Order: sequence, then C-alpha cells, then structure tokens
Amino acid sequence: MSGLGKGVVTSSILKLLDLYDYRALPIKFDGYLNYDCGTMNPFRHGEVFVLDDKSEVDMDFGIYERFSGRDLTGDLSITGGKLFGSVISKERAGDYLGEDVQIIPHLTNEAIGMIEAVERRRKPDVIVIEVGGTVGDIENSYFIEAVRQLALKHQTIFINLTYTPALEVVGEQKTKPAQVGYRLLLQAGIMPNFVICRSRERLTGKAREKLALFANISETHVIDDSDAKTIYGLPLHFMEQEFDTMLIKELGLKAQRLNRAKLGSWKEKVNIIENPKGRLRVAVVGKYTGLRDSYASIKEALVHAGVPIRKGVDIKWIEAERLEGKGASPALLKDADALIVPGGFGKRGTEGMINAIRYARENGLPFLGICLGMQLMAVEYARNVCKLRGAASAEFEKDAAHKVISLMDEQKGVKSKGATMRLGLWKCRLPLRESIAYSAYGKRLIGERHRHRYEFNNSYRGILERHGLVISGTTTDKRLVEFIEWSSGFGIGTQAHPELRSRLEQPAPLFAALLKAASK
Ligand code: GLN
Repeated sequence: MSGLGKGVVTSSILKLLDLYDYRALPIKFDGYLNYDCGTMNPFRHGEVFVLDDKSEVDMDFGIYERFSGRDLTGDLSITGGKLFGSVISKERAGDYLGEDVQIIPHLTNEAIGMIEAVERRRKPDVIVIEVGGTVGDIENSYFIEAVRQLALKHQTIFINLTYTPALEVVGEQKTKPAQVGYRLLLQAGIMPNFVICRSRERLTGKAREKLALFANISETHVIDDSDAKTIYGLPLHFMEQEFDTMLIKELGLKAQRLNRAKLGSWKEKVNIIENPKGRLRVAVVGKYTGLRDSYASIKEALVHAGVPIRKGVDIKWIEAERLEGKGASPALLKDADALIVPGGFGKRGTEGMINAIRYARENGLPFLGICLGMQLMAVEYARNVCKLRGAASAEFEKDAAHKVISLMDEQKGVKSKGATMRLGLWKCRLPLRESIAYSAYGKRLIGERHRHRYEFNNSYRGILERHGLVISGTTTDKRLVEFIEWSSGFGIGTQAHPELRSRLEQPAPLFAALLKAASK
C-alpha cells in the first residue's frame, strides 16, 4: 500500500545491483489518469519531481536518483494517463481497425510494450519495476496483469512489499494484512519470490515463519525492513540478510564481483548520518510545510550536504503565514543557523517569506532562496534596499508599480497548464570568481533543473545592481538571471531547483555551501 516506502525499497534494490556493477534501471507505474505529475498539488501528492529531460514525475524518482546516482528520464514513468492516452490515439489512428479495444489485451500490451521499449533502447542488465498502489486496487489491476504476462516472456522475479502492524497495547506483530494481500496477488496469478516486510520493530521469528509458510517461500526469502535511523542504511540492512546474493541468484544474472570501493563509500556516509558530530538547525519557511513530502528533496539535500562536514541537520518547518501581519515575530528564526525559502506557487504566505528574508539579510543569517525564494529575495531587495515601493512579482500583483519578477514573453500566450513551464536542465554561466555561486560549484558552466513560469525582470537589473545586488549567474545567452547574491554575508538565490540533483554521493554544491556558512 502507499506510504510503506516502496520507493525506498526499490531504490535499495537498485543500489544493491549497482554495488555489483550491474546496470539497473527503475520503471515506475502510477495508476492515476493524470498524464504526469505536473498538474498535481504538492500539498496532496507530495513534491513534483523534475528530470533533466523536462519530465514532471512522481517523487519516487527523486529517491531512485538519490540512491543510484543516475540521471533518469521520463520514459521510465508509466502512468494510467499515458497508457490510456496512447491506446485511444492508436484507436483513432486506425491501428486496431476492426477490433473491440479492451483492457486486455490492448492496454496490457501497451504497458508491456513501454517496458520492452526501455529494454531495447537502454539495454540494462535489470529493470526494477515499482507498481504503485495496493494489490486489489482497480487502478493498478491491469498493470499487475501486464507484469504477469511479462514474466511469461522475460526472466522475471516478483517481490511483495507488505507490512506487519503491531498494536501498541498487544505488541505482537500481526501477519493477517500481509496474508490478505498475498492472497490477492495469488488470485492475480503472481507468486512472489521474496516478501519484504515493513514493521516498526524487527520482524519476529514467529511472524517470519508465518509469512514464509503462507507465501510458499523459505524463511530466508522473507526480508526484514523495520524502521531504521536513515533510509540510506536500507541497502546495508538488506545485505546483512544476504538479500543481495539471493536476489542476483534468483534473477539468474551472471556472477559479478562486489565493488568494495562503492560499498565502502556508501557505508562511510551512512555511518556519518547515523553518528553525526553536532547538529545544525535550518529553518524552512514555506507554505506547504504541513506535508513534509512537499519538500522531500530539500530535506534530503540537507542530509547529503551535512555528510562532508559530519553534521546532522534538524529542519525547523515554519508556515510562512506565521511570519505575516502585526503579530509576526522573527523570534521564530532566532534559533536557526540558516534559512531556506523554497519554491512555491501563488500568493499565500509570500509576505511572511519576504519578512523572513529581510530578517536574514539584516541579521547575517545564512540564506538560500530557491526558485520562488529567489524571486522573493529580489522583491525584498527592491523594496527595502532600493526603496522601490510596491515592488512585487507579477504572479501575485498584476498591476504592481514595480514588477521585479515578471512573465517571460514566451509564457504570455500560454493557456494550457501541462508541461508548459520553463522545465528541466538548463545550462548556466557563473562569470564571477568571487561569488558564492562560483565558489560553491567551482566551475564556470553548470546545469541545474528548473520548474517555473516567472523570471527576474531584466529592466530592474541595473537599479538592483547599483544598490549592491550581485547577479552571479545567467543562462548561457545571458538573457535570464539564474543566481543573485547579497554583496555581504551569505545570501544567495537561484531560479533553479538545486535540491533536485542532490545525491548522497554528490551533495548539491549550494546546500553544502549553505551548511558550511551555517556552521561558522
Ligand atoms: N511560482 C513561481 C513561478 O512560477 C516559482 C515557481 C517555483 O518556485 N517552482 O515562477
């Protein structure tokens, strides 16, 4: 079922295979009829993740990338919307002339075809397919049928992720929900090779014995996935149970040697996360703070950035509206070592974010503004340093006296909301050697992912620069502003989303720089 951590399990499997130098690629199936995640509300569905190739995908792709270190692509995301859309256009084109178009075989073949296309194009050693949702759902039923059929043609194994709840008063782990789920899988014609079991405490011998019995597998094939200190420890926990060697054997892969250097590096980082030397406190002032998943990548980027300086990071989530109006108190920010204002859409909370940024600028609190956060950094500067009264973003005030942030010309006629923002990887120049941006990245030409409609208004470059704002990065054609900085203290805003490319093995440079400044 959703919320169990299928993304983390899938990513850990990818990591296990990577530790043996197999080339493994994930495919994610999501049953909803949206074509992609671009139009979903982060407050309901969690963060919208963006890939280099402009695809707006499920946040699980973020976990895959953070574990595997690979840049993934949109064809690995299969949704109900894509499958139905494609079948309907084929029908209109006459591809099925004379037939009744049905879930089986047309929709199922479409799913199999998409998976096989990935196999043909990329030639990975293994594809790890994560089926979203719960067995028994209508939403994923045809996809489960598709993978059953896939197994008739390709070397395939099945892994059932389940859970054993334990009511606090009783304490005993109950296997009943797992048994029900397992029976539904059998009904769908699928016998799992492994059962991975989520639970709060370690799986008891008794529960393991029962799960094995009902699933027709040996007890060694029941894998514990109990709550851990850090999700990055899961591949190692799997290895302790020899899941890696059993997996490789069941997949029928040609034996390859364990890459000790990769394993050592991963272990070292997990060890630092579990035993940090001191902690930093980072305030995140945003509008979706009620659902942590809305900022999943920021949270993880901070974990990654803490590793090189051996620090743990505590995030203080602050609902931006609490920093607005008369009663607003900057005391909320007093105990923070750094401030992040993340991306977002719409006016709600933006005045509170602007107040937070002003506090950081005036009090020397290290600050990182991301996308909307960068835009509001520019607005704050225009209002309070350049004294441009009524400065705002055109997103919130169409008739503002000074639209420091405005709509790009290309965006002006755009009506449709799907996949129409400035998206994906954009190259960016960092011309100033002395800047925070250049020292963080250590090179002149970088690339980061984007997802926004509004931009820094070039007519205000002059006046903001004359008042000391530093424009430290632009697109390669210099037309769009990508990075701005305060001329003193640590304050930087970027139009990009650097958190989306942060991985445990390669922390995002700006987050690393922020934490370094914070620890001073
Ligand atoms: N709402 C802003 C825009 O569309 C910022 C978007 C974001 O923060 N991702 O430009």
